[in-house]
Amino acid sequence: MGAKIVKLQLIYKSDEVMPYKDYCKELFALMREMSIIKNKIATYLYLDKRFSVALPIEKDTKVKSASGLASAFASELLVNYKTGEVEVLKNHSSNRSAAGQDVQAKFKKFLKESMGAYAVNPPSFKDNGTLCLHDRCIQIYYDEDNKDYGAKLFLLSHSYAKELGIKSSNGFDYKLLVGDDSSRAIIERIIAGEYKISASNLKWDKRKKKWYLLLCYSFTEKRTTSYDPKEYENNVMGINFGVICPMYMSFNHCKNRYNIEANEIEAFRKQVEARRIALRRQRKYCGDGSIGHGKNKRNSPAMKIDDKIARFRDTCNHKYARYAVDMAIKHQCGIIVIEDLTSIAEKEERLFLKTWSYYDLQNKIEYKAKEAGIKVIKINPQYVSRRCSKCGYISFEKEENIKAPDYRKFHCVECGFQSHVDYNASQNNATIGIEAIIAEQIKEHNSENVKNQPAAKAAKSKSKIKETA
Ligand SMILES: [Zn+2]
Repeated sequence: MGAKIVKLQLIYKSDEVMPYKDYCKELFALMREMSIIKNKIATYLYLDKRFSVALPIEKDTKVKSASGLASAFASELLVNYKTGEVEVLKNHSSNRSAAGQDVQAKFKKFLKESMGAYAVNPPSFKDNGTLCLHDRCIQIYYDEDNKDYGAKLFLLSHSYAKELGIKSSNGFDYKLLVGDDSSRAIIERIIAGEYKISASNLKWDKRKKKWYLLLCYSFTEKRTTSYDPKEYENNVMGINFGVICPMYMSFNHCKNRYNIEANEIEAFRKQVEARRIALRRQRKYCGDGSIGHGKNKRNSPAMKIDDKIARFRDTCNHKYARYAVDMAIKHQCGIIVIEDLTSIAEKEERLFLKTWSYYDLQNKIEYKAKEAGIKVIKINPQYVSRRCSKCGYISFEKEENIKAPDYRKFHCVECGFQSHVDYNASQNNATIGIEAIIAEQIKEHNSENVKNQPAAKAAKSKSKIKETA
């Protein structure tokens, strides 16, 4: 699993902290200092390797080994061993250790490539306009107010920020220019926690006079299970894509249950809907300016909204799928059962199906479960929500078991079992062999119906078919 890099332009937003001109000046100073630090570390590593001698720097900075040097440079103050002067390092301590690690990695390569310790000079690091960033010093976020992406970078050491009269904990704020859809998908996944940021670089493009973030990210490790899912196929997690909750999870081997509340999706949907209406109104009264440029151009703000919805769904679905599979692993499940929503005719009453991409969510769950070695079984959704998970009674009369006034409640007319509708359905899904059981119940119900046909419709209303097992 390798790390990848995405290049993003940064637009400085922290003018109230420091005017842009001063900010640039400070950053160039940081870069100069970083290259000095890198060269010091490289020299040290080189001397240590070649002569096995420690630099006099040791007694001042308590460097015990070559690898300890990076952390020595991570301390706030450095005593110059020649002059005895104490200097405040400007770079953030974490970024200094990131630089140290960078040098160590390059030094290893250097030893392999250039006659190792017999090389005449240590590798050198020029000030090439980059700043090493520790992953701790990078925050990527979605800017709710401006509806775009932002980054926060922590660049200054505590003492240096103090010297400048700035609160170092605030960092510098930027708008991220995300050019294309693939970078956008990466950012979304980083925000969703799907991808993990690793040590990166801040770069000044001299020619373009622009700042770039060379953001390194890696795929979070595949969830490894501490058990072999193949040996736990009796532990089943049932997921229901619900009437009330977008997703409800429960198990056949323990009482725990988890669900995702609809609030997040609902709030977003309302917000988008309001925006769409406002746009439509605007369009109605807009002047000639936007008319006559073709349909596409006229509709483009609306299309942008559609884009936004699609991205939001993608991010949410990643998050939900990750959550579901994590819960299955936590409860040592060998199998996850979901309903096959490719034939959703029976489920059309479920509001969320209309507004949410369940098909995509299903695919993501399947994909992530497979990574963890957990089997996913898709079952026919027919009657799942109308079957009592306790006694097995299926209400073939529509809505008999799911009763008003509280439509959230499942109430079995046969045994009196009561629960959350979505919990009941997820419990059905978690029943081993549920698809065959329901198919059998349907068959029995139908043959009974045929028998009762002459007795007309009266008999149809109370068909009680019990679980055969
Ligand atoms: Zn029942």
